[in-house]
Amino acid sequence: MKNSLRCMVFALLAALGTAAAAQVFNTTRSPQGDKEWPVVKEGVTVKVSPHVYAIPSESVPGVPNVGIVVGSKATMIIDPGMGLLSGQAVAREVAKVSQNTELYVVTTHLHPEHTTGELAFPYAKIIRAAAEQKDIDESGMHWVNIFSKRSPERAEILKGASFRKADEIFDREKTVDLGGVRVRMMYVGPAHTFGDTAFYVEEDKVLFPGDLAMKEIFPAFAMPQSSMRSWLVSLEILERLKPAHVIGSHGDLADGAILGANRELLSTLQARTLALKREGKTAEATGKLLVEEFKAKYPAWDQPVRVISAVDAIYKENP
Ligand SMILES: [Zn+2]
Repeated sequence: MKNSLRCMVFALLAALGTAAAAQVFNTTRSPQGDKEWPVVKEGVTVKVSPHVYAIPSESVPGVPNVGIVVGSKATMIIDPGMGLLSGQAVAREVAKVSQNTELYVVTTHLHPEHTTGELAFPYAKIIRAAAEQKDIDESGMHWVNIFSKRSPERAEILKGASFRKADEIFDREKTVDLGGVRVRMMYVGPAHTFGDTAFYVEEDKVLFPGDLAMKEIFPAFAMPQSSMRSWLVSLEILERLKPAHVIGSHGDLADGAILGANRELLSTLQARTLALKREGKTAEATGKLLVEEFKAKYPAWDQPVRVISAVDAIYKENP
């Protein structure tokens, strides 16, 4: 009796274990509607312009909007998603729209959901801005650990994640000719991170501004080097390109109007912060006040709590 009970308990535990493992390890599970499985989704790739495709994030946390730029001789992937599974999903989507064997993988900034999918492309050429490389060297694995602690699913997806060595590093700007279409890579930090990089597909007027401009999502000042002043300057530079399409690294695909919308929100936030600072308020008090104020002023925008770190950055920049 005792033995058979023990057997049953073992069988039950084994079944539970298998179920749990299946839930976590099943790589074919569709992330559709599954906010806990941050892997780039397959079968949803859209054509944005003659040379540009995007795999929309569908606002799943931990999934970026992925860009695919196809030239006559080479293909560039912008932000290959989080972990090997995302990178492999991206590779299968790329194969549907391009037969090029020459591949480039580039990323908008160091955070793991933008970078670590690059492991699925061992033969692709990795090009990074020197500032992004500095971010990766200093805190790339630190961010992988932070992300891994957020959920068991993320820990699984990021297991064994690391950063590939760059094949090429540029300082401020570099243009890559993919054959009939050129991508201008521009260092636009420090803003969301120190090493933010934007990508402009010149012939198609498509801009990938990273986290610098997203549709109705409050900007995140994610690192100690994040700077409001430099963020605003970079948005002005990007606006001068007059892009027809703007694909922020998260949120809906959009047009050039989101650059102005983000600049307007950030400069209003800067002005309000400095006004409250002049009244003698602490950064903490100003942050609390402005979260509520901006929630009311921009009700459609997601993540208003990010106002707090923006206020901190502004106080630090204006001692
Ligand atoms: Zn980020």
